[in-house]
Amino acid sequence: MANLRNKRNKNAEGNFFVDNSCIDCGTCYWMAPQVFKEDDGMSLVYEQPKPNQEVRAMEALFSCPTNSIGYTGARVEMRKISKTFPIPVSENVFHNGYHSESSYGAASYFIQRDNGNVLVDSPRYSSVISKNIKDMGGVVLQYLTHRDDVADTDLYQKDFLSKRLMHKDDISKKTEHFEIILDGQEDYQIDDDLLVITVPGHTKGHTVLLYKEKYLFTGDHLAFQRHQKHLYAFKTACWYDWDIQIKSMEKLLNYNFSHVLPGHGAPYKANSSADMKLELEKCIEWMKS
Ligand code: SF4
Repeated sequence: MANLRNKRNKNAEGNFFVDNSCIDCGTCYWMAPQVFKEDDGMSLVYEQPKPNQEVRAMEALFSCPTNSIGYTGARVEMRKISKTFPIPVSENVFHNGYHSESSYGAASYFIQRDNGNVLVDSPRYSSVISKNIKDMGGVVLQYLTHRDDVADTDLYQKDFLSKRLMHKDDISKKTEHFEIILDGQEDYQIDDDLLVITVPGHTKGHTVLLYKEKYLFTGDHLAFQRHQKHLYAFKTACWYDWDIQIKSMEKLLNYNFSHVLPGHGAPYKANSSADMKLELEKCIEWMKS
């Protein structure tokens, strides 16, 4: 929990505050933009939540990777909200919250399926999340988009006895024990509704996961830039090769999806997969400029 003594001066007066341990990962801005915003390289509470925004502000508090958000109101409220994770996004797709500092606050997701549930990247370890996911049927597969978002994968594996999957080109000593290690640049069909697509660029072994030809889990390959209002890739945080990342982005034009669920930033939904393709074309144009 954040420390009141280290509270940033500019926070709006009230129960919620940000302290000076914030690493500016952006999670709280996209989860509760009516409450938090970036200011001088850190977040702050620029407006206390209205009653109908309090749950979302509290969810951001639990998702903060560095426990930099504090709350001076009733503890009972906090306990109630802590039990509501993972948070529904759409249909049977959930946002886990509980972001990890080791993945610079990246979001992870949970897909509840008849044929076995999937954890997409990893939240930081929390017995609350683990229990809630267990109650939702557990996990058979832990899919990792790339090496940076592994976080507490192994701790969850102990709870769920699930298989861990990542591409060989992102495997290190810390992950060489993963049960499924993909190789080459071919797509990998996990099940009728789950396809792994290789998208080298951000890292050499980065992949994305397409679910039901509708939801694309994109890790650090593709996100939505809320200020510029277009799909976006992280050029200054491209660790392998930007030109190759552009080619990987062009490859995605061959697939149908209408939702982008990124590691950093809010999920983005287009009206249709045709509209998403237009958005992706704009992104590619921007990447080439
Ligand atoms: S979620 Fe936490 S670390 Fe990330 S920007 Fe907000 S206060 Fe800072």
